[in-house]
Amino acid sequence: MIEVIAFDADDTLWENESLYHRAKGEFARILSPYREADWVNCKLDENEVSNLPVYGYGIKSFTLSMIETAAEVVDGKIEAHTISAILEIAKRMLSAEVELLDHTEQTLLQLSSDYDLMLVTKGDLFEQQRKISRSGIEHCFQLIEVVAEKTPAKYLEILMKHHIEVDRFLMVGNSLRSDILPIVAIGGRAVYIPYEHTWFHEVPEKDEIEGVEYDELEHLGQLPEYMAALERTLD
Ligand SMILES: [Mg+2]
Repeated sequence: MIEVIAFDADDTLWENESLYHRAKGEFARILSPYREADWVNCKLDENEVSNLPVYGYGIKSFTLSMIETAAEVVDGKIEAHTISAILEIAKRMLSAEVELLDHTEQTLLQLSSDYDLMLVTKGDLFEQQRKISRSGIEHCFQLIEVVAEKTPAKYLEILMKHHIEVDRFLMVGNSLRSDILPIVAIGGRAVYIPYEHTWFHEVPEKDEIEGVEYDELEHLGQLPEYMAALERTLD
């Protein structure tokens, strides 16, 4: 029997990647006098990934990568108004309303009568906490964890900290790399719910998911029925 269901937050419970998608469009428009949008976005992706070990995840890190990319695109002659325009994008992203995905609220309320619900989100602590408190669904969770990276070791640490057996735990998320693979690696169950936009960094190579056992649902609203069916097989 499952006792704890853990949810990823960004693009599992609420919109996130669409903010970045829009921001990248605006950023490319700012630099359109110098380079084509595809080139700019490619360079930005490259800088974001190489900066992850230094800055970690989140909008502020993304902003530093946008500034770095802009400086490269204009060959070091970046002007103050370009930096201001980039900072405007960042501020809009940081103050954006939290938009819950379809089915989120109803599914959490439904499951919370039978399970303890946990939120496991990775990213910048300040940004993630702001979204959690503005989401209107914080009360659905018994446990909330904001982590810098979702690795098998980090999940094990969370389970040990809260005295949860891995076979009583199920993780739900939209990222194969962060929500599914590390859970399966520690012998846990995971349910993958893909989202329309996924940052390429969160998509594993084909051979990384070969033979990995997890279930996939189309949307969160299918989870209560999935859980009922799963519990019947575990009886
Ligand atoms: Mg996510």
